[in-house]
Amino acid sequence: MKVAFFNTHAFEKPYFVSGNQNYDQSITFLEPKLNEQTVELARGHDCVCSFVYDHLNANVLNQLKEMGIRLIALRSAGFNHVDMQAAADLELPIVRVPEYSPYAVAEHAVALILSLNRKIYQSISRVRENNFSLDGLVGFDLHNKTVGIVGTGKIGSVMAKIMKGFGCRILAYDIAPNAELAMNLGIEYVEFPHLLRDSDIVTLHVPLTPKTHHMIDMPAFVQMKSKVMLINTGRGGLVDTKALIQALKNERIGYAGLDVYEEEEGIFFENLSGRVQQDDQLARLMTFPNVLITSHQAFLTHEALRNISQTTLQNILDFEQGRKLFNQVHAETHVEKEIRK
Ligand code: NAD
Repeated sequence: MKVAFFNTHAFEKPYFVSGNQNYDQSITFLEPKLNEQTVELARGHDCVCSFVYDHLNANVLNQLKEMGIRLIALRSAGFNHVDMQAAADLELPIVRVPEYSPYAVAEHAVALILSLNRKIYQSISRVRENNFSLDGLVGFDLHNKTVGIVGTGKIGSVMAKIMKGFGCRILAYDIAPNAELAMNLGIEYVEFPHLLRDSDIVTLHVPLTPKTHHMIDMPAFVQMKSKVMLINTGRGGLVDTKALIQALKNERIGYAGLDVYEEEEGIFFENLSGRVQQDDQLARLMTFPNVLITSHQAFLTHEALRNISQTTLQNILDFEQGRKLFNQVHAETHVEKEIRK
C-alpha cells in the first residue's frame, strides 16, 4: 500500500523504517500535520497514517475519501482527533494501536513523583553551579504514604503495582473496579471524594471524556490534603489549568507533575527555544518551583515505539490482505469505548 505518513517525528521514524523491512509498505514520510491546508499531500496514496495532533474532521475525511484513501491508520490509542461519525458515513475504516506499553507511562509518572519529591531537577542545576548545599532539598519517604490512583486500567494497574513496591497504601477510583487487582494487591476502591481527601499523591490514568473533563477543578483541589502532589500523565483536559494555578498560588497543593497540558497542541513536541512563550497559563506554570512539566513524553520508550510501529504496520497489512481488523474503532461504540476502551 502507498502510505502517507503525516506529522513524522525524528524519534519515531527509525522504528517505522526498520519495522517496515518485514512489511514492505511504500511509506512517504511527511513532516506537516494533517489538516485542511495539507490534506492534498495525501493524493496518490491508499492509506493515511496519522498522529494525535492531526485534524481528521469531516471536511478532511471527505477530501481523503474523494482522493481514493481507503484506510486511516492511527499510530495512537486515542482517537478523539477523528470525526468518527463522518468516517463511518464515508465507510472509511479507522484502525489504531490500542496499547503499546503501560509500563512506559506508569514509569514516567513514577519518575515525576521521585523528581518532584527529592527535588532532583533543582539538585542538578545547583551542583552544575558548584553549589553543594542541601538547604531546601528536603523530601519525604514514599513508604507508608497514600497514593490515590484515578483509573485502574492498563496504566493505572501498573502504577498501583509499582507504588505498592515502595510500601505505599493504594486508594483507587474507577467506574469499573478491577476486583482481581484489589484482591491481589490489597488496594482499596473508594469514591472519588474519599480518594481526594485521603491521598498524599493523586495520579490520573483515566481517558479524557465528557465525564472526566476537568475532574480536577477547584472543588476537587479544596477537598485534597494540604500539600498534596498531583501527577497527570493522562490528558491535559482532566485538570482545570486555571484552578491548578490558583491552587499552586495559594499553596493548597504542594507539587504538580504534568506530562500533559490542556493547550499543549502546537507547543509540545516542538522546539520553540528562542521564541517568546505565547501561552500565558503555561508560562505561569513554568514559574513555580514545585511544578515539573514534561512534553507528553511518558510513552517515549524503545519498547513502546517498537510496539506502535509493529501494530500500525500489521493493521495496514491486515487491511491490505482483507483480514479481520482487530484494532478497528467503530463510530457506534466510540463513546463507550472512549470510556471503557
Ligand atoms: P485503559 O482504558 O486501560 O484504562 C482507563 C481506565 O479508566 C479504565 O479502567 C476505565 O474504567 C477508567 N475510567 C474511564 N472513565 C472513567 C471515569 N469517568 N471515572 C473513573 N474511571 C474511569 O487506558 P490506559 O491504557 O490505562 O490509558 C489511560 C490514559 O492514559 C489514556 O486514556 C490516555 O489518555 C493516557 N495516556 C497517556 C500517554 C502519555 O504519553 N502521556 C500515553 C498513553 C496513554
